[in-house]
Amino acid sequence: MKKLQFVGGCLCGNVRYAYSGPILDANYCHCTDCRRVTGSAFNVGVRIRAAEFIITQGEVREFTKQGDSGNSLTRHFCGNCGSPLYTSSPLHDDFLFIKAGSLDDSSAIVPTDQSWISSAVSWANISPDLPQHQKESGQS
Ligand SMILES: [Zn+2]
Ligand SMILES: [Zn+2]
Repeated sequence: MKKLQFVGGCLCGNVRYAYSGPILDANYCHCTDCRRVTGSAFNVGVRIRAAEFIITQGEVREFTKQGDSGNSLTRHFCGNCGSPLYTSSPLHDDFLFIKAGSLDDSSAIVPTDQSWISSAVSWANISPDLPQHQKESGQS
């Protein structure tokens, strides 16, 4: 079977990564830290094997904080544009959790569950009744 290769990076293009292993699972996280670090309603984290992940270009900065779970998490991001890229945990050092949106082809990701529903915001669910625009708001 052909080995899949997933590639991704940050908004400015300084940091690029490649992953040659399987996508293990993906989940939505509604915790307050994920809301703050993404600047959005929730994070979508994709669990991968750390051993098969490499930074192919650029330098990643990191920030470590104790999460809502009580475990400390290190968040890795581009020092130039600030895009969040992936999270690591000393409790699970075999794995990394990449941000689904940092992949060049995010359509490969299929989240299977949601964590921290207890702190989810109401706007995490997009009402189908909201006006929809194919591109920018005001255009159709
Ligand atoms: Zn960048
Ligand atoms: Zn979270």
